Amino acid sequence: MTQYNEVKIARILNPTSIDLGEYVINPTKGCEFCCLYCYVRSNKTVSREMRPWGSYVDVRINAPERLEKEIALKKPQSVLLGSTTECFQPLEKQYGLMRQILKILNKHGIFYSILTRSPLIAEFVPILSEGFCKKIYFTINTMRDDLKMSLEPRSPAFEQRFEAIDTLLAHKIAVVPYFSPVFPWISDFKDVFQRFSQARQIEFEGLNFNLINIEEIVRALGTVYPDLKDRYIRLLSDKDFYEATWELVRKELVSLSIKAKKSYNIYIHRFGDYFKNKYADDRR
Ligand code: SF4
Repeated sequence: MTQYNEVKIARILNPTSIDLGEYVINPTKGCEFCCLYCYVRSNKTVSREMRPWGSYVDVRINAPERLEKEIALKKPQSVLLGSTTECFQPLEKQYGLMRQILKILNKHGIFYSILTRSPLIAEFVPILSEGFCKKIYFTINTMRDDLKMSLEPRSPAFEQRFEAIDTLLAHKIAVVPYFSPVFPWISDFKDVFQRFSQARQIEFEGLNFNLINIEEIVRALGTVYPDLKDRYIRLLSDKDFYEATWELVRKELVSLSIKAKKSYNIYIHRFGDYFKNKYADDRR
């Protein structure tokens, strides 16, 4: 289970190299959804933690108060919410930090983008509709239940996420369905383009084979798909095979997007680029 710890922080607006905002805001440290492939596990500070990922959430209870003070000093134009945590975890119902933070950003006319996989965000439609929410990247997937049980047993059900995206789109909020991670030979995209025909674009991100716990992830995949285990192990060490495999994924996406007349992007991590994913070192 996840332990909530109330903490106070000295800073909430942290500079970022992610091109979705000048600063990032993370109202919590840790995440109860505990995805095995979460890139935050590879974050320098988090990987040095003695507490296992998923076992704790430090709730930054003074985040709204800090935000008001720092807005006055730093005068940000745009921010990104949720670069190293999930902002809309169940604890939001208890603490209401995001509700306060979004209201403060709206009040000061600061634009924001949000990364999430939580349907709880659909409860914020009135606040998100005030004109300052630029984009919500909403992580989805279509993996089988047994794979989900191995890789993200505590994250919200995919169908609930799809319904939340429908709700946000119905209120004209800019949502990008973000299919992540893509697993070669496993991920099924064929219905995704139709399912989100209202979305202007769909984005995809391949599984990052440079994560520090990739061997654990490959073991989990191999348990559910034993026939694919050797191929996944080969992807870890054979650059040509790795690149050819992702090229096939790209081709499948090109063909589906043409049929659906819907644009898409896919982000594929470079082979052997040991966790240079720039999200990793952004301050929390
Ligand atoms: S929801 Fe996001 S932050 Fe939380 S564990 Fe999953 S990937 Fe990491």
